[in-house]
Amino acid sequence: MQVDLLKDIVASVASKNAVGIVDLLHGKKNVNEFLIAKKLNLTINQTRNILYKLSDEGLVSFIRKKDSKKGGWYTYFWTLNSGKSLVKFREKLLKNIEDLKSQAATRKTKQFFFCPNCTIEYTEENALLHDYTCPECGEILQVKESSADIAGLEKEVSRLEVILHNINEEIGTISKKEEQARGRRFKAEAKKKEEERLARKKERARLKIKEEKASKKVAKKPSKKKRS
Ligand SMILES: [Zn+2]
Repeated sequence: MQVDLLKDIVASVASKNAVGIVDLLHGKKNVNEFLIAKKLNLTINQTRNILYKLSDEGLVSFIRKKDSKKGGWYTYFWTLNSGKSLVKFREKLLKNIEDLKSQAATRKTKQFFFCPNCTIEYTEENALLHDYTCPECGEILQVKESSADIAGLEKEVSRLEVILHNINEEIGTISKKEEQARGRRFKAEAKKKEEERLARKKERARLKIKEEKASKKVAKKPSKKKRS
């Protein structure tokens, strides 16, 4: 998998501070989490939180071993998953993008209200229900200016769509490689079968000649006997 794409994904799932994890795990297997924490200059809990998030997305997997030196606690060893894990991640990403788009659409078409004291937000229906007064503190609700929120949502959508595009390309490359490998396997199998078929044919021919020789000998013998 592409390192840059993985970094984008890690930044999106966890945080920008976590992208160093990709360099530490890429091309390796079962990396000790204490080593990851040390290299990233994070505590073991911070490190685990990041790795659990990536694990929830199917991007990394772990094995664990009981460490007698650490009082019988488990130590986790982490591995980046193969490109196939991207397919699962893509589903989540697509859903996420749809959610953000629908939120932006709602903000564009509907009015929202908020309480300046409690900063709680209300839909128009809820605001009307409470007579445009905050049910928590009694303050009069104000109309929410949504343009900054909409811009934020749309920016996030664009960012995720770039990642989606790169994931689609990567998945395309992976399936193409798999198809080529399948093609090569199929060719090799066909070649092997053909060789086996030829070997059998050769063996049959050899046996036939042997049989013919044997039957000629058998046929000759009695004729010799008759003459003598
Ligand atoms: Zn209030």
